[in-house]
Amino acid sequence: MDLMDKIVSLCKRRGFVYPGSEIYGGLNGTWDLGPLGTTLARNIKHEWWKSVVTLRENVVGLNSSILHHPKVWEASGHVASFTAPLIECKNCHTRLRADHIRDKCPECGKSDFTAPRQFNEMFKTHIGPTEDTATELYLRPETAQGIFINFLNVINSTRVTIPFGIAQIGKGFRNEITTGNFLFRVREFEMMELEFFVKPGTDDEWFETWKQERLNWYLSLGVNKDKIKLIDLPKEVIAHYSKGTSEIWYDWPFMGWGELEGIANRGDYDLTQHSKHSGNDLSYEGFVPYVIEPSVGVGRAMLAFLVDSYSEGGDRVVLRLHPKLAPYKVAVFPLVSNKEDLVQKARKVYLELKDNLPTAWDDRGNIGKRYYAQDEIGTPWCVTVDYQTLKDDTVTVRDRDTTKQERVAISQLDSYFAKKLK
Ligand code: ATP
Repeated sequence: MDLMDKIVSLCKRRGFVYPGSEIYGGLNGTWDLGPLGTTLARNIKHEWWKSVVTLRENVVGLNSSILHHPKVWEASGHVASFTAPLIECKNCHTRLRADHIRDKCPECGKSDFTAPRQFNEMFKTHIGPTEDTATELYLRPETAQGIFINFLNVINSTRVTIPFGIAQIGKGFRNEITTGNFLFRVREFEMMELEFFVKPGTDDEWFETWKQERLNWYLSLGVNKDKIKLIDLPKEVIAHYSKGTSEIWYDWPFMGWGELEGIANRGDYDLTQHSKHSGNDLSYEGFVPYVIEPSVGVGRAMLAFLVDSYSEGGDRVVLRLHPKLAPYKVAVFPLVSNKEDLVQKARKVYLELKDNLPTAWDDRGNIGKRYYAQDEIGTPWCVTVDYQTLKDDTVTVRDRDTTKQERVAISQLDSYFAKKLK
């Protein structure tokens, strides 16, 4: 089995990610997060929010609606140009995105295509009960525009002063021509976006700052430094309004180096466009701010963390997830499950730990199997309650990555883990 098949299968088997609408044969480009995937995604979002919003004095959060006034997408340029070149293979009629394929059809191997036509990737829907063009709306393909249209609201209701940022995490929808590679390219996904507004002239410096900050975020969460890098895109391939676009690339198992996150210097394009189209002046102290935008999909980031942390040794599979991302931080077991006093003691330890930390309980099978099961979902520490515990109130703590065990007093467990999770 190749690496991606193993990861997809582990994700399904252990409840990280399920195929969308599976009992009805599936819905292409959608995936559902299971119990562990939901927690992993929450942890990723939490770490992003902490690093981008909470720890900073000059970034605030926002949660705009998914549906916007249709004029938003005219102003932003999405109606005219959020398009991809669509071609069709004349032999097998597969529809493909011209800029995603090399010269041959991936389905049949022929190279006879129709001429490309521009396909708008925004999902359309209707507001209210009449379905005509006057009621047409789009599901947002990015969260950024919700930030620009609230620029004045935020300025007027908070005490932010330039330079400052507005961050948002929320769903985006893109009617991608082709999807694939698990969570890499899907049609519905959560995005984590920051719009950081700066004085023109200071934008190059802030652009560099955010590139580094975002790369460091991945490194601080344990991503292997040989597998991730910053790339400056050449001017020819970036949007006409962009003053510069960089990407954080990951060395994906299915395609090699490719985009994980985009970081753009969008200049004053968006605020200028919305000023013109809405008739509201979105300038600030006499100038239109420039904006630096780091933008990443939660699912794509999750895929990078999963791929990066997956490891095998003998018959042992270990997700070496950073403890801050791991769905469970600790698992608690009684050494054996048929000794009532051990089980009771272990339950007590479990319930106490659970107060502070996401903690799993397992009393099935033998200890070896339980370690194996926790390794596979990335739980960094396993606590075992054994006969010695009954005598001296200490337990063993086993470390996922070293497999080493330490004896720790029950009364010290909270501070022991708190220190490790710092
Ligand atoms: P592409 O040109 O490959 O379609 P893009 O450059 O339009 O992508 P951006 O608009 O920069 O992508 O999107 C910002 C981020 O959102 C990406 O770096 C990626 O993490 C995530 N993302 C974009 N499209 C998808 C998708 N279809 N599925 C999952 N994540 C996505």
